[in-house]
Amino acid sequence: MTKKDKKRMRKIIILTCFIVLCMISFSMIKTHFFQTTHEHEEEYIFYHDYGLKDKDIETMLNLSYYRPERAKRYAKWPQENIEKRVLEVNCDMDLEPFEMITVVKDDQDMTMLINKFNSLPQDYMPNDLVPVKEYVCVQGQDYSCQAVAQIELRQEVAQAYLDFAKAAEKEGIQLRLIAGYRSYAYQKGLWEYAANTQGQDYADTYYARPGQSEHNSGLCLDLTFNGYRFNEIEKYEGYDWILENAPQYGFILRYPEDKVDVTRYSYESWHFRYVGKKVAQIIDKNHWTLEEYHGYKK
Ligand SMILES: [Zn+2]
Repeated sequence: MTKKDKKRMRKIIILTCFIVLCMISFSMIKTHFFQTTHEHEEEYIFYHDYGLKDKDIETMLNLSYYRPERAKRYAKWPQENIEKRVLEVNCDMDLEPFEMITVVKDDQDMTMLINKFNSLPQDYMPNDLVPVKEYVCVQGQDYSCQAVAQIELRQEVAQAYLDFAKAAEKEGIQLRLIAGYRSYAYQKGLWEYAANTQGQDYADTYYARPGQSEHNSGLCLDLTFNGYRFNEIEKYEGYDWILENAPQYGFILRYPEDKVDVTRYSYESWHFRYVGKKVAQIIDKNHWTLEEYHGYKK
């Protein structure tokens, strides 16, 4: 073999290797794309029937919080912005109150969602309720103080509340707890009495149905300040400090004024919900509600 032949031979080998490599790569790319298209073919056909464009379908399928079991609801919900559409359906904003009720699965989860679409199991009762002895309203002395023997909260929540109230006191703010845990039976009595005397619509406007009140969970509290009516606490000058610092102690304002369309509850300046420090700070930082916090999950 001459030197020239050897050179030619080397060229042929290199060229052959290159061609083989190209063929392998091409085949891999082809397989990948074919599989992807094939994998979502059904979804594309389904959403095309509802007039959605490929670009929007792709965006939707790639969202980390896309839930395939809600496909029909995503398709029907008339929200142009695709990210918002998925979030809003995840927050059940496409449903009428009480249209579809999911029973809470993990009743030990401090972030559990209880609202007009998610309910506690019937006769649920937390297993670690403790009476709150300090920073509680006194009947006959504080406005809005309810006639109950003692106010109870779940243990972790009670401790967080005491820490919060002590910190507020250092700022000259006198926090008073006016309500905590309410039993399923008590809530049932409240709602049924209102429904029987004023009608179901009235009852649903002013009272949560049994199992659908956060007060049944022992995770929330109604607050007031010494000398203030509970439904006027936003007028108190210390209220801004409360709003600003609540997340550090694990609490969020559960029904903000600008989120009525998401929570489906009127503004309640006095109702705070415990979700734990980490989650409370995430919710606060993102200006979410608890519905949105869950809505951004798979
Ligand atoms: Zn409340």
